[in-house]
Amino acid sequence: MVARTDNVSDPQLAAALSLMRRGQAFWARKLNEVRDADFDAPSRLPGWSRRHLIAHVGFNARAVARLVEWASTGVETPMYSSPEQRSEEIEFGATLPTEALRNLCAHAAIHLNVSWRDLPEEAWTHEVRTAQGRIVPASETVWIRTREVWIHAVDLNNGARVADFPPELIDALLDDIVRVWRRKRSPLEENITLQATDRARAVSIRDDDEGLVVRGTAVDLVGWGIGRSMRGVVRADGSPAPRAPEWL
Ligand code: ZN
Repeated sequence: MVARTDNVSDPQLAAALSLMRRGQAFWARKLNEVRDADFDAPSRLPGWSRRHLIAHVGFNARAVARLVEWASTGVETPMYSSPEQRSEEIEFGATLPTEALRNLCAHAAIHLNVSWRDLPEEAWTHEVRTAQGRIVPASETVWIRTREVWIHAVDLNNGARVADFPPELIDALLDDIVRVWRRKRSPLEENITLQATDRARAVSIRDDDEGLVVRGTAVDLVGWGIGRSMRGVVRADGSPAPRAPEWL
């Protein structure tokens, strides 16, 4: 029996799926606004045309769907067989005719959505491994895809802005930025605190008063933390902020 709605009773997970679907719709709308003739123009990612970005977002949906399949069947199916496979398929995808590229993106997203919808409730906690090698419950695939669709809509370079993100996504990204840095950076490296002027609490890599403190609106701090913008972010003394460390 094929499910018509998600097999999800956890309200947090239901909210996460909703935020992802709004992001998928946002990405699809911005992609729809790109004319075929403008596919060759640069994205906001260094070295990538819009074609590369569109191919990547399509193949990413397929890769995330492989993790959902892994959770569903128990048979290990990694996101990518290797980093080379990931970049080769992007290079290949970028050469496709624009219509094929649009279809790839749309169909992969539909397939992923169906995979989530049909995932039995108990399988959402099944452990899978991300492209970075982290072991996470299958439910984390929703956040992995959420980040991709919202942020790459901005990278499409045709008008989407971090300021268009819903507030709950901004809050989730502030937490995610310091969480990823905490994971990637050595404990000996400088602590960083993001002090949003329009939020009640600051977020930090570590709970100490040392290190770099940067200030700005939550939107501007997210733009800075994900490496997409320097706008509106200053040090505690008001001087310009340095570039943020690499995030993903
Ligand atoms: Zn990506």
